[in-house]
Amino acid sequence: MANVTFVTGDGIGPEIAEATRRCIDATGADINWDIVEAGTDVMERLGTPLPDETLASIKKNGIAIKAPITTPVGTGFRSINVHLRQTLDLYACLRPCKSYKGVRSRYSDIDLVVVRENTEDLYAGIEYEKGKDDTNEIIDWINRHTTRKITKDSGVSIKPISVTATQRIVRFAFDYARKLGRKKVTSVHKANIMKFSDGLWLDVSRQVAKEYSDIEFEDRIVDNMCMQLIQKPELYDVLVLPNLYGDILSDLCAGLVGGLGVAPGGNIGDKAAVFEATHGSAPKYKGQNKVNPTALILSGVMMLHHLGKTEQAEKLENAVAAVIAEGKDVTYDMKPDRDDPTAVGTSQMADAIIRKITG
Ligand code: NAD
Repeated sequence: MANVTFVTGDGIGPEIAEATRRCIDATGADINWDIVEAGTDVMERLGTPLPDETLASIKKNGIAIKAPITTPVGTGFRSINVHLRQTLDLYACLRPCKSYKGVRSRYSDIDLVVVRENTEDLYAGIEYEKGKDDTNEIIDWINRHTTRKITKDSGVSIKPISVTATQRIVRFAFDYARKLGRKKVTSVHKANIMKFSDGLWLDVSRQVAKEYSDIEFEDRIVDNMCMQLIQKPELYDVLVLPNLYGDILSDLCAGLVGGLGVAPGGNIGDKAAVFEATHGSAPKYKGQNKVNPTALILSGVMMLHHLGKTEQAEKLENAVAAVIAEGKDVTYDMKPDRDDPTAVGTSQMADAIIRKITG
């Protein structure tokens, strides 16, 4: 039996969490759930959006599945999602983007995996607010030491990219490609302009690629990559990207396969892994039993693979694919007409998936 933490989140989180848990249990995966909270709901009761027990549970079990959590605007707590990734050193964000028959999309037969570096880059949170003393100090220093000038009324965000973090994420991408029998890794960057951050990323990518002669390697400049993904996505397999480009391109790739409702993800480190949907907490749908649980359920498929429960993972993925392909017991967003009265609720879609699993 595996011990797994389930963070139920807020907004639509608890509803899709419940649907996902029931579907995973139906596979006979034999999981001992530790169900814990995070987000705005628990914040109202306990005064913190991330109770100590929640973090302690993830640390203890080393594996968690997490429903979405709202990022409060202007409260000082940047983002629980970012905080979890940093505290647990979940350095790799893995986002498979796969076409499922029955999901409306401009494309079919997409099978891409986005591997995003999670700890550095402009997302590292090293930011200086306009007008503050430390910001002025940095601006003065830069203006004294370089020919480039930053005006005093600027805010500043720092973009660190290290050899260490680049090596481990590129290795992660190659190891993943090897394990899953994939053929090619593409490293994405803007090294022609940002020579000391993205340039370093590209150099390290090339060095690491030499350790994996069995897997093809290439690189692409990020703007060109966006165009290529729209024009010929079939040319690509595993993409590895620094944090910010990874954030943007994972949404682009989710768009190729039908949107956020069907895009799963995992944040993985050496000591812990947290699986979660790509979409957020969609607060306006809270408590309506309306939204699509597929992305979190497919994150559950990734989690089962991570636990080595391949048979249960395949059972669950096949059941989800079958329900979507039939197009009957699916949520409103998967119907050709979003106002289709035959759309089912979150929990009824989970029931249909469970019926497929249990036969
Ligand atoms: P969102 O993904 O929550 O919602 C945007 C829209 O997408 C929704 O209004 C809805 O129309 C649609 N949508 C999202 N999930 C859906 C689903 N499962 N089924 C059907 N339709 C769905 O994005 P947002 O409104 O920008 O963010 C809301 C909050 O979630 C913010 O506070 C944001 O910071 C947070 N967020 C959290 C995570 C996370 O926990 N990992 C990820 C992204 C955003």
